[in-house]
Amino acid sequence: MNPLETDDVDVIIVGAGLAGLRCAKILNDHGKTVSLVERSDYVGGRLHSFRIDDYVIDEGFQLVNPSYPEIVSSGVLKNFDLRSFDSTIRFQNGTESYELADPRKHPLSSLRGFFKSPLAISDALKLSSLFGKSLLSSARNIVAQEDMSAKEGLITSGISMSAIEDLFQPFLRGILLDDELSSSWNYTRLLLKSFAQGSPGTHPLGIEALAAAFADQLSMTTIHFNTNVQSVGPTAVVTAEGSLTAKSVVVATDGNTAQLLVGSTLPRWHSQTTWWWSLPKLENSSGLRIDLDDRLLSSALDLSSKAPERSPATRSLVAAPMNGDRPTTEFENRARTSVAKMYDVNSSDVQLITTSVVPLALPVAAPPLTLRRANVRNGVYCAGDYLETPSIQGALASGAKCARAILAN
Ligand SMILES: Cc1cc2nc3c(=O)[nH]c(=O)nc-3n(C[C@H](O)[C@H](O)[C@H](O)COP(=O)(O)OP(=O)(O)OC[C@H]3O[C@@H](n4cnc5c(N)ncnc54)[C@H](O)[C@@H]3O)c2cc1C
Repeated sequence: MNPLETDDVDVIIVGAGLAGLRCAKILNDHGKTVSLVERSDYVGGRLHSFRIDDYVIDEGFQLVNPSYPEIVSSGVLKNFDLRSFDSTIRFQNGTESYELADPRKHPLSSLRGFFKSPLAISDALKLSSLFGKSLLSSARNIVAQEDMSAKEGLITSGISMSAIEDLFQPFLRGILLDDELSSSWNYTRLLLKSFAQGSPGTHPLGIEALAAAFADQLSMTTIHFNTNVQSVGPTAVVTAEGSLTAKSVVVATDGNTAQLLVGSTLPRWHSQTTWWWSLPKLENSSGLRIDLDDRLLSSALDLSSKAPERSPATRSLVAAPMNGDRPTTEFENRARTSVAKMYDVNSSDVQLITTSVVPLALPVAAPPLTLRRANVRNGVYCAGDYLETPSIQGALASGAKCARAILAN
């Protein structure tokens, strides 16, 4: 018998990424039964972790931001072993380095770092006003404002070009996966707001633990793994294993698959490559590091500084991403040298564990940013980060909107 035909459900959701999981949870909470059809053998989609020897590697993004509104409202972090990083960034400039810290959490070291940094007092004032305004404005107010590129937004806010080039661009390009800072300023301000509100962290089992926590919240959902959906209609999906019918269908895939299944607009993508390094056990290495000399890497982070379970006892696990998906040998050598300098170890002590290349990492968030209502195409509901903001928050929010639209109908 076709294993899928045993299901008799209210809603079929295609894709068990964060958008699909959040949608399923809200539907379950309202008494709706769900079949979640997933082509891979795990939940989480782009949030995926795996082991190599005694190292826990994340294939895509590594950090959980506890202040994302949908993470807060889902309650998913209640029993989650989140290990938050210090809110500091250490900039390496030649043999000199300075650390910028959140002045609310580290008042003294933030002052010390400021005087060593190239920031002018006027920049520091503009910076605090920018963070202050982002913190006080609601997300709705931020999105309602006239949009422009992140670079134009910084210039319009009065930030000096030297602060943009030596502070903002090095920091933001790793978050936006966008070297040019051409992403939406309103989206960037939403990100700044979330950074000001919470300290991102890691989990001993890697980022996939977040997806697993969302999956654990499900009550009336059956997940069909290893099942590739080939076509969809308003009340049915077709897979190689057979078809499945329900009252409603949600496509919660990445934007490219959604384009094939429902004909939505093909998104443009930012890509990312992350080198995973094993270093001799490091001390006091929590917090982000940025190399201002060779700007190949967008940052480096010792994940084992907060989650020692992620590496063997005598080694540290450092993730070092660059924007783009072409990790040549030359880039790998430069990345190794850069990591060695930032952590003050010999290059020969920096051993490559693996390289993770994600060509379709983040949909491009070009201005103007538009947050859509639940998206319905040809009678099929759609969810996914490409419809909201390209982020964990965006994926979750789109899944939630979709569920509410189904319930309202
Ligand atoms: C390298 C990288 C860096 C990132 N950086 C950040 C960051 O700094 N901050 C941040 O908040 N977020 C970041 N993210 C983004 C975040 O991970 C994504 O926005 C979010 O996970 C997307 O979730 P989703 O559910 O919309 O899509 P996906 O995770 O893509 O889930 C879609 C699911 O659909 C399944 N699927 C696809 N086609 C089919 C089919 N035909 N049949 C059945 N199933 C199918 C897939 O297997 C997948 O499980 C990053 C991601 C990556 C990869």
